[in-house]
Amino acid sequence: MLQFQTIPVTPFAQNATLLWDDQTQDAVLTDVGGDAEILLQEVASRHLNLQAIWLTHGHLDHVSGVPALLQHQSVTVLGPHQEDDFLLQKLPEITRQYQFPECPVFTPTHWLSDGDMVSVGNHYFQVLHIPGHTPGSVVYYCEAAKLLIAGDVLFLESVGRSDFPRGDGPTLLRGIREKLYTLPDDVQVITGHGAYTTIGHEKTHNPYVRAA
Ligand SMILES: [Zn+2]
Ligand SMILES: [Zn+2]
Repeated sequence: MLQFQTIPVTPFAQNATLLWDDQTQDAVLTDVGGDAEILLQEVASRHLNLQAIWLTHGHLDHVSGVPALLQHQSVTVLGPHQEDDFLLQKLPEITRQYQFPECPVFTPTHWLSDGDMVSVGNHYFQVLHIPGHTPGSVVYYCEAAKLLIAGDVLFLESVGRSDFPRGDGPTLLRGIREKLYTLPDDVQVITGHGAYTTIGHEKTHNPYVRAA
């Protein structure tokens, strides 16, 4: 079975998520925004084999723990979409500005594109590119487990901000309507901050974007 545990990291309480296959003990971490040692302790306490980091987008609270984690353990870094490279290039400056531990520029092992498949153990996730919060935002959808790692695209009765550099509100809402509201209602959504939700709940309660 696919298991998960969310661990809020950084002063922004960003939901880094440990995903693992309890048959193979293979694991990935999503959005290593900081607190790399706490995340690695969680991996070790569950006796998991960490294989990769999956990133949803290039904002500092989602990525700035990656170089620190890689110093402890060499794993593959997947995502986000290459359109977010401009954010990764600015990490030293932005982490200083927000008084985060300074983070060097890094490049993921592989950028991801819409329709790519990634896996943890025997569980497969489809990559959906949903720009608007950032141009390179992706989400990860496991059809079999009905689980979505949504980053800052969709929140409980809210959506990601689009007033950051290269944000685009109409594009974000269209992406949510076309790519997320077409998923089954009982898909559980792990959001980038705060509470989980479901696709069905958002289709009927989200004040920013209702089902068409
Ligand atoms: Zn963000
Ligand atoms: Zn965020």
